[in-house]
Amino acid sequence: MIPGQFDYVRPADMAETLRILKDREGEAKLLSGGYSLLPLIKLRLAQPALLVDLRDVAGLDGIAETDDYLRIGARATHRQIHEMPMVRDRYPLLHDVTAVIGDPQVRNWGTIGGSVAHADPASDWPAVLLATSSTIICRSQSRERAIAAREFFLDTFTTAIEPTEVLTEIRIPRRPRGAGGAYQKLERKVGDFATVGVAAVVRLGANGRIESAGIGLTGVAETPFAATDAEAILAGNAPAEELFRKAAAAAGAQSRPAGDVRGPVEYKRAMAAELTVRALRTAVERALANA
Ligand SMILES: Cc1cc2nc3c(=O)[nH]c(=O)nc-3n(C[C@H](O)[C@H](O)[C@H](O)COP(=O)(O)OP(=O)(O)OC[C@H]3O[C@@H](n4cnc5c(N)ncnc54)[C@H](O)[C@@H]3O)c2cc1C
Repeated sequence: MIPGQFDYVRPADMAETLRILKDREGEAKLLSGGYSLLPLIKLRLAQPALLVDLRDVAGLDGIAETDDYLRIGARATHRQIHEMPMVRDRYPLLHDVTAVIGDPQVRNWGTIGGSVAHADPASDWPAVLLATSSTIICRSQSRERAIAAREFFLDTFTTAIEPTEVLTEIRIPRRPRGAGGAYQKLERKVGDFATVGVAAVVRLGANGRIESAGIGLTGVAETPFAATDAEAILAGNAPAEELFRKAAAAAGAQSRPAGDVRGPVEYKRAMAAELTVRALRTAVERALANA
């Protein structure tokens, strides 16, 4: 199909971007990598009057650790994140996820900010941000907001971002000693969206027990979600296969998959549980190696 007509602007900086969003509130769409938005426009599933291209806006890139968190600029591509040696060495969970998003072309163009703002119910990043209890920073002309990932994904393709805001960066808590994480994805073929994706993070205490756990699931509900029942089962207990299975059953039970071309409801629930076990095993191995 041929897209409908739209205007296109390429603001020079953040101030101009925010002014345009305010002046054209509700009519404008930000363009980052374009790998989700442009197909929608071509199919006329999205018909914005104005596209605001973020490519010249400084300050939206970069990946760096502060004392408290890993800061990833909204326009960092999946590939840039994957190829950072610091991410590979210190944040294997992020290295896992950036290896399995789409195909190389998608990873070259798609950005973390675009992915999180788009909030596809089967996208991979949200599961990771939920498991790590990350924070999403959004800016408008009047204020900057820090939104907890667990309050950000409201519904299918719906987030807490307002039409006058730009998502500027993601803050992932620094990985402390004794913590490990892993991402497991089931896809029909390489490059596909997740049938189920599970991100798990565990932090072990000095006594070897799980001090805290974070689990994020994607593909098995109307929006990615944190498996809070499973997290509660894990906390305070010694890591063991039986415990992982109990937590995983809770994660499967908390999921609300729809039956579709990727499989029926019961299959997806069972896979959500199985992938939770696998992600937990690897997360604990990595936590032990990071003691
Ligand atoms: C063939 C194919 C396979 C794919 N496979 C996967 C997969 O396996 N897993 C996966 O997770 N994703 C997958 N994707 C999606 C891919 O990761 C996209 O790149 C991503 O979802 C959107 O990022 P983008 O930078 O392209 O955003 P865009 O398409 O530019 O924007 C997406 C949406 O976010 C908004 N937006 C963009 N940036 C901002 C910002 N800074 N602030 C506020 N709003 C903003 C836009 O207005 C738009 O509504 C796939 C895409 C394709 C085409």
